[in-house]
Amino acid sequence: MMKAKNNRYMDKCRNGNLYKNRIAVLATMHKKEQVIAPILKRELGMGLVVPEQFDTDAFGTFTNEIERAGDQLQAARKKIENAMLISDQIIGIASEGSFGSHPMVPFIPFNRELILFVDKEQDLEITGFAANSNTNYAKKMVGSFDEAYEFAVAHGFPEHGFIIKATTDTIQREEIEKGITCLEHLNHAVTKLLDSRSAICIETDMRAMYNPTRMKNIELATLDLVKKIQSICPECSTPGYEVVEYKKGLTCQYCGNPTDLILSHVLECKKCHHKDEVLYPNGKEYADPSRCNWCNP
Ligand SMILES: [Zn+2]
Ligand SMILES: [Zn+2]
Repeated sequence: MMKAKNNRYMDKCRNGNLYKNRIAVLATMHKKEQVIAPILKRELGMGLVVPEQFDTDAFGTFTNEIERAGDQLQAARKKIENAMLISDQIIGIASEGSFGSHPMVPFIPFNRELILFVDKEQDLEITGFAANSNTNYAKKMVGSFDEAYEFAVAHGFPEHGFIIKATTDTIQREEIEKGITCLEHLNHAVTKLLDSRSAICIETDMRAMYNPTRMKNIELATLDLVKKIQSICPECSTPGYEVVEYKKGLTCQYCGNPTDLILSHVLECKKCHHKDEVLYPNGKEYADPSRCNWCNP
């Protein structure tokens, strides 16, 4: 009996149908379903529900009135657990973004998006990522409406939303105005806070529905996630057969020495721990001498 069920599961996996006509709950209140739902539908045949009245702000906000619990992955897990509970679903999805400086070039802003997929039935966790400098993340102290307006326009206003607050690190709710996408709102927020101080902080609103640039990165992370879900373990057919190691050492075409370019990917199954090493993942068996430390030091 057990075996029959298992075989059916493996057949579904092999055909890429494991999640066809299944439903996942998306733990969001920031309209992320706009980019996530069409990809799940197209690539996996999967539907999405968003719980009404789901307060993701309880798990942390970018403006820090509520501190995020743990790292991005832990925060996403918490949101999913909660959304599964109130929606009675066993498959859940949540995304978390972080913003800061580029890891190598400190003055360039950087956005790292994570999207987590949890299948409780299969005891499976798969994570998609996107990380790049394509973000308008910025903040500035300004002393007038004109200055605030200039900053806003330079960072994508009014297509992108903005936040006005008393200081860069204020956490008082009454001193923060979010989701500003029109001139009247901007004017009102700036004037109100400038009334009792000489400078205020303006910053980009990073919540997905106020930030089309971030929404694009959530879309990229979702595509990465779906690709991993579609990658099936050759041994046990579990989805999420993914790269766990990148090995350097592609041979130089001219001198034959190993270079820093990728020679192989190691893939591993989370369930049965089957491993494969795939040579030449970028389709090239040799490195160009211009990338070789011996030929082109
Ligand atoms: Zn496996
Ligand atoms: Zn060489």
